[in-house]
Amino acid sequence: MGARLDHRSPLVFDTRELGRRPGTLKRLSRTVEAPADLGNEVIGAPEGEPVELDLRLEAVMDGVLVTGTARAAVKGECVRCLEPLERQLAADFQEMFAYPDADARTESGDDAEDEEDTYYLEDDLIDLEPVLRDAVVLALPLQPVCREDCPGLCPDCGARLADDPDHHHDAVDMRWAALQELAGSNQDREKDNEPRPAGDEPQEK
Ligand SMILES: [Zn+2]
Ligand SMILES: [Zn+2]
Repeated sequence: MGARLDHRSPLVFDTRELGRRPGTLKRLSRTVEAPADLGNEVIGAPEGEPVELDLRLEAVMDGVLVTGTARAAVKGECVRCLEPLERQLAADFQEMFAYPDADARTESGDDAEDEEDTYYLEDDLIDLEPVLRDAVVLALPLQPVCREDCPGLCPDCGARLADDPDHHHDAVDMRWAALQELAGSNQDREKDNEPRPAGDEPQEK
């Protein structure tokens, strides 16, 4: 176990009031500052921005069951057009925090695999940070888009297609632009070399 939990930390909750009596409930709301890295690589709650927590702490036989919702504004960028975007996120979670001595009582030897997933109360305190982090990351879109039909960027030149719905390149243009330019200048030269302007022709009926 690492350092002891600090009861003044905003994501640490005191369960002492529950008195370990199964069925005892405590509801509370708290607004905390988002801890660092609350999100994934493309979107998340910026550090220090408010996260509203509504929690229900319930004493059960072996620990405290925490049920709650976290609400936060999350910011990131559209994976298609790279424009910044912001969402209101509501992440629900439910997690059991076991009494440290409850584990000793139920230990059977072969549930070691479960142990890393188990949270424990420390001095009757709950550290909600890992639970909050998991809940928020799970609730975040993996591929956030500014809008469902975001057309993204032009694969040829990187222009934002939403700004310019008619944007396109003629495939021929892209490949033959240089050649056409050459051909164009040749034509101009040929015209210059014509002995008579074309406009004179209609006179010869
Ligand atoms: Zn977009
Ligand atoms: Zn383009």
